[in-house]
Amino acid sequence: MIDVINLEKKFDNGFTALKSVNFTIEKGDLICLLGPSGCGKSTILNLIAGLLTPTSGDIKFSGSSIIHTAPKNRDIGFVFQNYALYPHMTVLENVLFPLTVGQNKISKAEAMPIVEEYMHLTNIEDLRDKKPGTLSGGQQQRVAITRALVQKPDILLLDEPLSNLDARLRLRIREEIRKLVKQVGITAVFVTHDQEEALSISDKIILMNEGIVQQYALPQELYLEPSNLFVAKFIGSPIINTFDVTVRSQAVDFGLFQIPLSNFTDARFQVQLQENEKYTFAIRPEDVLTKPESAGHLDMTITGYEIIGRDCILQFEQDDFKLKSIVNIEEAKSDYPLGLSFDLDKAFIFNESGERAY
Ligand code: ATP
Repeated sequence: MIDVINLEKKFDNGFTALKSVNFTIEKGDLICLLGPSGCGKSTILNLIAGLLTPTSGDIKFSGSSIIHTAPKNRDIGFVFQNYALYPHMTVLENVLFPLTVGQNKISKAEAMPIVEEYMHLTNIEDLRDKKPGTLSGGQQQRVAITRALVQKPDILLLDEPLSNLDARLRLRIREEIRKLVKQVGITAVFVTHDQEEALSISDKIILMNEGIVQQYALPQELYLEPSNLFVAKFIGSPIINTFDVTVRSQAVDFGLFQIPLSNFTDARFQVQLQENEKYTFAIRPEDVLTKPESAGHLDMTITGYEIIGRDCILQFEQDDFKLKSIVNIEEAKSDYPLGLSFDLDKAFIFNESGERAY
């Protein structure tokens, strides 16, 4: 449905916001563009919409380049963070507006059944005579989404549509958006910097950093098989534990302790790790195992904890060596050293340039 090919964007001030971006979005998919502030998410969206022109590269819709197609002819609906509703019009007038202006305009009588259908879908029928200023943020965003959908675009672009809403409403509206996108069968690209939001609603996620696609994968793949250290650290909460290690005498040396390479059952570890090379060892908090007795790689005493419902995040700290583990809340009570060990089948090792060595 959407092919982005070697897309580059250099702004007039010489700043390169996108460096050779490539991806393909399948028809009907809900894709999240995810990444930290300034990584180029909105730039991609604006290039797809035609609000910006690429420096080089191509964008194709259903196999045809749209680089030279005017924004209004691209068959796109756009939903913004700030809703962008017309304040002097009622909800009904806002939703009717795009259908009754421009080249493809239809009469109000023809437009009304479409408007009624979509207002029913997004559950804003009761708000029809209200002005945007009298609505809550969630209601305004529903109106904005309805206004984008009545035009029956092929593609729906949403730029941080939930960031002005409070936490509870964000959860609700994001579920509504996913349901709606699937119901209407539209292809949607959703920009967010919130990994939890992206993981919960996307069919696939494009994770960006500094104008480069770091990984394009299913949500669970990003978590379970991060392709580099940036992805491993960006996805997951609390953040993955990382340690600078060196391979010495057939063991991974953490400073405070060593783990023999032979403990890593997966053959790839042993083949690819080189003697005397430095690596980053990474393990998620849920894969750090705690035992009440001295039975792990090292013994440490809990230095802090945070209860998150049924689970609890334990913190361990000794000089520069810091570690978090997620355990059942029952296990948070001990004030004696615990034996810590790593589930090595779940560990990742990255080389000095941050790429997966395993
Ligand atoms: P955020 O989550 O903060 O909106 P983003 O990932 O959407 O960030 P973009 O808005 O795409 O980031 O911007 C990418 C980079 O390009 C940023 O460093 C930004 O400062 C820069 N940039 C954006 N627009 C321009 C412009 N018109 N001229 C120069 N630099 C720009």
